Amino acid sequence: MVPDSLLSQFLSIRQATHKGVRAPHKPLLLLYVLSRLWIEQKYRLFAYEEIKPKLTELLNRFYQSKKNHTTKDPFTRLLTDQVGWELKGIDDFQRIYASKLSETELIDRGVAGGFDHETMKVLLDCPNLILQLAHLLLTKNFPENYFSEICQELGFPDPLKDFISADDVVSTQGLDNRTNTTKRDPNFREKVLNAYRRKCAFCGSSIRLRDTLVDMEAAHIRWHCYDGPDTIPNGLALCSSHHKLFDWGAISLKRDSESYRIILAFTLNSSGPMESWLEQIRGTSLLLPHEQHHWPDPAFVEWHLDQVFEK
Ligand SMILES: [Zn+2]
Repeated sequence: MVPDSLLSQFLSIRQATHKGVRAPHKPLLLLYVLSRLWIEQKYRLFAYEEIKPKLTELLNRFYQSKKNHTTKDPFTRLLTDQVGWELKGIDDFQRIYASKLSETELIDRGVAGGFDHETMKVLLDCPNLILQLAHLLLTKNFPENYFSEICQELGFPDPLKDFISADDVVSTQGLDNRTNTTKRDPNFREKVLNAYRRKCAFCGSSIRLRDTLVDMEAAHIRWHCYDGPDTIPNGLALCSSHHKLFDWGAISLKRDSESYRIILAFTLNSSGPMESWLEQIRGTSLLLPHEQHHWPDPAFVEWHLDQVFEK
């Protein structure tokens, strides 16, 4: 397997869903395995007994859905994704039905998973490729507001993209053509900020240094990596703190007759001055653009409420 085809295979597992619900299980599992390879720089497989608690921890931190935290399914089903994944400790017949094995069977038989020798050799020969794959998994599955926390949790350098060597053996040109990272509308931020009169749609703040607006961002309601378009009805002008809390599912919107009401997750805790700062927006109405056709599209708001908001 050559590096470029490995990148292509990683692209093919993007946007995993389980019954229509966002499911970052495989990407998080692969990110964990890649991080161990990056740190340890040696060939090894990962016993399911090791994967289970680690992946559970990652899902608890980076996946808001409480309904589906399976660690067995991604571990066994990566076999079908052609990313060079292999399972040891089961015979060929059992491998066909690996996803049917119970967690107890996986642990009792000491089943271990990881990249096969060929893939491993490619990765260990080119550690920079490990970083490229990790960055690809991040960009295809999470908004940028997650990157730093995930990298720090796993021990990757942060910010990851600054550590990917430009003279790597794998051409990033072909990769960029196949990812949507380069398809962004460069005017998205400006259009959204103008529609919202350059104020945070949650708190109304607008901070300027002389004439320069600082700390104001354009958020995607439906994540860009999950096909959220760069359009004003999929955008919100938010201060950076509210943008992060929105991306992390701590804040969402509920349709309320003519407007949208701001809701906060029950699990959100704060102390000190931030407590009143957070509470002041609870239950208030979103500060909408003047023009009604710029208002958030209910379908995108519904997606955020269903798939990102921590309930
Ligand atoms: Zn704000």
